[in-house]
Amino acid sequence: MTSTNTTDQSAPQPDRRPSPWDAPAPTGGHDALGGAVEGVEGDRSGSVVSDRAVVSAPDAAAATPAALLPAAADHYALFQDVAGEDLQAWADARSLADEVLPRINDWWDRGEYPIELIARLGELDLLTDGLDVPGHRTLSPLATGLVNMELSRIDGSVGTMVGVQGGLALRSIMLLGSEEQKQRWAEPLARGTEHAAFALTEPDHGSDSVSLETVARRDGDGWVLSGQKRWIGNGAGCHLTVVWARVEDESQPALHGQVSGFLVDQSLPGYDAEVIRGKVALRAIHQAHITLDEVRIPLAQRLPGARSFKDTSVVLFATRAGVAWGALGHALACYEAALEHAQKRIQFGRPLAKAQHVQVRLADMLQTLTSMQLHCRRLAELEAAGTIRPEQASLAKVHNTRAAREIASNARDLLGGSGILLENRVVRHRSDIEALHTYEGTDTMQSLIVGRSITGVSAFA
Ligand SMILES: Cc1cc2nc3c(=O)[nH]c(=O)nc-3n(C[C@H](O)[C@H](O)[C@H](O)COP(=O)(O)OP(=O)(O)OC[C@H]3O[C@@H](n4cnc5c(N)ncnc54)[C@H](O)[C@@H]3O)c2cc1C
Repeated sequence: MTSTNTTDQSAPQPDRRPSPWDAPAPTGGHDALGGAVEGVEGDRSGSVVSDRAVVSAPDAAAATPAALLPAAADHYALFQDVAGEDLQAWADARSLADEVLPRINDWWDRGEYPIELIARLGELDLLTDGLDVPGHRTLSPLATGLVNMELSRIDGSVGTMVGVQGGLALRSIMLLGSEEQKQRWAEPLARGTEHAAFALTEPDHGSDSVSLETVARRDGDGWVLSGQKRWIGNGAGCHLTVVWARVEDESQPALHGQVSGFLVDQSLPGYDAEVIRGKVALRAIHQAHITLDEVRIPLAQRLPGARSFKDTSVVLFATRAGVAWGALGHALACYEAALEHAQKRIQFGRPLAKAQHVQVRLADMLQTLTSMQLHCRRLAELEAAGTIRPEQASLAKVHNTRAAREIASNARDLLGGSGILLENRVVRHRSDIEALHTYEGTDTMQSLIVGRSITGVSAFA
């Protein structure tokens, strides 16, 4: 799709510009997504869990719920009735496992963002996060959740790619944008041919992002943006950033002083972004620290539906359930790895799984996992009925990210020393879940939202 807006400074960039994320070409046959892989870490040092063994991608057309989620991981058969388009979307997400798992540890180890995966996610039509985008399937709430779960079950960075590009950036445009903005951005973002960010958090405003200080000053026929943003996925070396800023425009009293969204081309003068290094979670996607120094954009680049922070919150609320599903994916991966390890690892002349205490621990994990699944399934029902309330998504987010941490820690320990090796998968998920625990509203802030709903009193504002 080409732009119909000739004044649009965010003109299409068909080829990705050189990115500060670009890392040296990998060695050992890791240079092309989907290509042959040599030297994939094998079974060493007593480790018995392999990425491929734990999740293998079935033929999407032949997938069944039981193949995607065996009974040992679906104790109440909560997902065995998934069928039709929902099942297809779930299987499509799973199909990425074979492409990603053999190389994810390499990317993770090197802190490299395989940004080409976004186009691959677009090819599979997995980027729309339940949005109604013309020319694309509209995933049901259940399918959207299953896709989130499955991608995080593969890797948290991959799940976060969809969360940022589809869940936050594309959603902002589809819910709050003008027809012209949707025409320009919906297709390339849904296809993954262009990459977008959602910039709300600032160095001094995380949980209280409602107090953000970035300003958008009206200046003649444009807006001039100044301020800083932190932790912004896709914020460097990509195409578009949806910047949330406080409006300074006394000619529009209703808007003056309010928070609104602005579409900012990352190549504009004054837009400077630095990848945040030294991160120990979600290492296969990058977040940026952005400085906006008098960045000038046309008037038409403001999202007309974004008239106050309440409109920003609509976007944030819509993606919170996705984090609960993502946490479920991480927990599933850890539980499956622990179960496989317990069955294969021999100590004292018998498999770990024959020890009573190990079975109790596995049963504990399954119990926690099942409660996570119940939260997710119910969220999908409420969303499909159109009755879901923000505090319900908050409760599920809190419950599931806490539960995923618990399962990941238990699984890590059950794998012994092998549990701290990337090749055994658990420690990567255990690290990634820390980011989910914090982003899209911290554990505490989500609890306070639930607390406000049950007491009628806000403890934070
Ligand atoms: C990997 C990652 C990716 C991210 N991606 C994005 C992105 O793409 N776009 C974006 O805009 N943002 C992004 N974020 C930012 C994220 O949303 C914030 O980190 C989050 O909102 C918390 O803000 P903070 O880190 O500043 O912590 P703070 O707000 O400083 O909180 C620190 C601690 O204090 C607690 N706390 C805060 N206020 C209260 C209170 N009133 N009462 C009790 N406890 C309180 C918090 O719960 C937390 O435990 C990302 C963050 C991470 C880690």
